[in-house]
Amino acid sequence: MTPRTLRSQLALWYGGFVCAILLVFGGLLYGVLARNLYRGVDQKLLALAQVVAESSVRNFLRPGYNNFSQLLEDFFGVPAAGQFIRVLDPSGNVGSRSENLMRRHIPISRTTVGRALHGEMVYETYEKDGPPLRVLTYPVVVRGRVRNIVQVATSLAPAMEALQQVLWVLVVGSPAVLCLALLGGWMLAGRALKPLDSVVDALRSLDADTLSDRIPAGGGTEEVQDLARNINALLARLSDAFRRVREFTADASHELRTPLTVLRGEAEVALRHPRTVEEYQAVLASALEEIHRMGRIVEDLLLLAKGDLGEVRIEKTPLELGRFLEDLSSQASVLAEARGLAFTAAGGPPVTVLADPLRLRQLFWNLLDNAVKYTPEGGAVYLSHAWAGDGWVRVTVKDTGVGIPPEHQARIFERFYRVDKHRARAQGGSGLGLAICKWIVEAHGGRIEVRSTPGRGSSFLVYLPAAEPGEPEG
Ligand code: ADP
Repeated sequence: MTPRTLRSQLALWYGGFVCAILLVFGGLLYGVLARNLYRGVDQKLLALAQVVAESSVRNFLRPGYNNFSQLLEDFFGVPAAGQFIRVLDPSGNVGSRSENLMRRHIPISRTTVGRALHGEMVYETYEKDGPPLRVLTYPVVVRGRVRNIVQVATSLAPAMEALQQVLWVLVVGSPAVLCLALLGGWMLAGRALKPLDSVVDALRSLDADTLSDRIPAGGGTEEVQDLARNINALLARLSDAFRRVREFTADASHELRTPLTVLRGEAEVALRHPRTVEEYQAVLASALEEIHRMGRIVEDLLLLAKGDLGEVRIEKTPLELGRFLEDLSSQASVLAEARGLAFTAAGGPPVTVLADPLRLRQLFWNLLDNAVKYTPEGGAVYLSHAWAGDGWVRVTVKDTGVGIPPEHQARIFERFYRVDKHRARAQGGSGLGLAICKWIVEAHGGRIEVRSTPGRGSSFLVYLPAAEPGEPEG
């Protein structure tokens, strides 16, 4: 079962890693040491055999020759029971031998002697009755003939003891190191994760009202600081979204309450005394106006809400933009002239866009209506389109009206946002027009921008992708 906390998982991973390193390192150490120890024994035996062979050539079978013990002592230090030298004749009979051999009976193998007679050096390990012995059978060759055979041996006990000690250290030491590694891993993981606890604590205390609080990022590692920064950015976005929802609800209720208040007030006043038919008609006409206004707001809101939910179908068809804008211009010029404004439709290159004609009409009509609404008498309104490069076409609705102060420009596309609430309301605006424009443009894969200088006028630039790539603007 995987442990649930990151801390224990990290400690276990760390422990497992150290354990694997220990196993590999211990195994290698043991293997290399064993190989070197046994090779050292074999090399010593060979050197000894060569010395004995040399002397045996001169002294073989001479009675009384007995300085092997001295030789053994020279090679191995203090003579031990497990070391011996003996010299055999080619038929396998023992000629000379060292004292130490008497303590143990080491049989002379026929096969070994046979191989030695063929000039082969034979290493064997003899393990019966006593500690293991390494025996080297060495042929003494004189003028191409095996003259006799030297057998030298030494106990493997010291080498095995050394190996056992190493093994013991490894076996006893490894669990201890493993425990230390686990403990160290646990402590290190705890230390590394501590800053996360403070992030979690700070997050735990957040709710809808404290979304504007920020997670302390200082003190932690780069990763924790990065996490805190990202959470803070998310909190900022959430807090902004919450604020918008709250403002939107307040604005929507306010927008609907105003016409209701007007309606109620007028009805109450009208009912106070009996009125003439004309007076009743005037009250009803005013009531109808307010009802229209409310109806428009509710319709706009519904459209935006459905748009947010992706429930509004956009029926895109190829549309020749020039002709489409021309149709719109004839109605816009009537509207502009009625308000004492000059209207110019500058036209533009032939461009086809994929668009929903009804929505596109709503988009440009809103922009033209705003241009007319926010331009004092004597001003001018322009409509034109042009290539904007990279397959984009730009439609510009320009006016010489009141303009929009820079600090408001970024927010005018928000729902219910109006620069001057009283003036906008008096002109019939609810503050939803540009929000709808933005939604329509984005639903067509485009974008909308505003350039404006207060007192001099505004330009609304709508960028739409062209259906076929055309000539970029020269
Ligand atoms: P409204 O229905 O109030 O016109 P919009 O969403 O269409 O709402 O516009 C939002 C606000 O942007 C308006 O209240 C107005 O202050 C400002 N605005 C829009 N178009 C223009 C323009 N052409 N010139 C100056 N101000 C504008």
